[in-house]
Amino acid sequence: MLYSRLGSAGIQVSRLSFGSWVTFGPQLDESKAAKLMQQAYDAGVNFFDNAEAYSGGEAESIMGRALKKLGWRRSSYLVSSKFFWGLHGSPNEKNTLNRKYLMQAIDGSLQRFGLDYLDLIFCHRPDPNTPIEETVRAMSDIVSQGKALYWGTSEWTGAQVREAYQIAERHHLHKPQMEQPQYNLFAREKVERDLAPLCKEIGLGLTTWSPLASGLLTGKYSQGSVPAGSRAALPGYEWLRERVLNPSKLEAVKKLEPIAKELGCSLAQLAVAWCLKNQNVSTVLLGATSAEQLSENLKSAAVAEKLSDSLLSEIEKATANV
Ligand code: NDP
Repeated sequence: MLYSRLGSAGIQVSRLSFGSWVTFGPQLDESKAAKLMQQAYDAGVNFFDNAEAYSGGEAESIMGRALKKLGWRRSSYLVSSKFFWGLHGSPNEKNTLNRKYLMQAIDGSLQRFGLDYLDLIFCHRPDPNTPIEETVRAMSDIVSQGKALYWGTSEWTGAQVREAYQIAERHHLHKPQMEQPQYNLFAREKVERDLAPLCKEIGLGLTTWSPLASGLLTGKYSQGSVPAGSRAALPGYEWLRERVLNPSKLEAVKKLEPIAKELGCSLAQLAVAWCLKNQNVSTVLLGATSAEQLSENLKSAAVAEKLSDSLLSEIEKATANV
């Protein structure tokens, strides 16, 4: 496993990490989740991603119980959570990054995890109804209180991250250290155009999500149907079903097949390896529902080494304009 600094921070994250969105709860119970976490840890993964909103808090509880059972040294791994949507319906408990919500949210999260502190915490989305300064002060205070080590954002624009950084700098607060954007062959704009300058200017680290576009890039949806047991078949994920069955994207995935064949790898490995080639990406967050998927995806680093400039431009051509 290769490790990378989280942007300019000293902390090192494995370039492949493991997340719990959709999977922990609806697809994996505590025992299966623990098995996959151990498999990832054995392969050198040191970062496990989570969020308050995943399965209404259940993903954090499952991960917390799994961590307890696994008994790893706390200093050997990083755990994250993300706050914004909330778990309850009243005005200061949902869709906000105000001070009251954030202070409650971190405590609730620590309780569900059964941990004393989290390593990384993210503002899960921007909040147009709270001044950025209020959010920056609250996130910085959480770090000062020792409840989290680093704070960052998820799906904020470059301009919003820059503003937060400048406020923190002006007031000598803890600065946002990382962003968590979507990044895959079908979602490139944010990472490559909007956030790239900030990686250089302020040392922003990136923990990127959905490297397989929820499985679309594995080819599992290429027949134009949804295999039973896949996340797009879950009740409540109808919106995702439409996305993974997008005809022009399915066409592009077919065009990637000969490239994967030439490299002797699977489509999933090709797609993850492509993300790893971007040196601004500190870690690529993997998702998996089985040991086979995880084992396949964890072998992507070796494929990244074989991705020459000419193969990269073939990949670009296959996925252009979709
Ligand atoms: P992917 O795009 O890699 O999708 C993972 C899913 O694809 C798996 O759960 C599995 O679903 C399927 N899959 C994975 N590998 C294979 C394989 N080799 N062959 C066939 N199918 C495969 O990543 P995620 O969307 O899960 O995102 C990764 C992590 O990023 C999340 O867990 C979360 O921590 C984070 N995230 C953050 C967000 C944010 O807003 N900050 C948003 C979304 C994710 P199945 O078996 O059900 O088909």
